[in-house]
Amino acid sequence: MEKEYLGICSSCGEGIYCHGGFLGGVLEDDGKMICFSCFEEENTGYHSKKQ
Ligand SMILES: [Zn+2]
Repeated sequence: MEKEYLGICSSCGEGIYCHGGFLGGVLEDDGKMICFSCFEEENTGYHSKKQ
């Protein structure tokens, strides 16, 4: 499958790619890109504190 390199995750440094029009990460307001795993970790980590 063709994928287009977009940049690296500003959190973990992994490459972020576009898969046939599907963006593999999230572009933040400040122009930084983060991958979905970091994005989800930020969101879930925010709402559910680890004990
Ligand atoms: Zn990441």
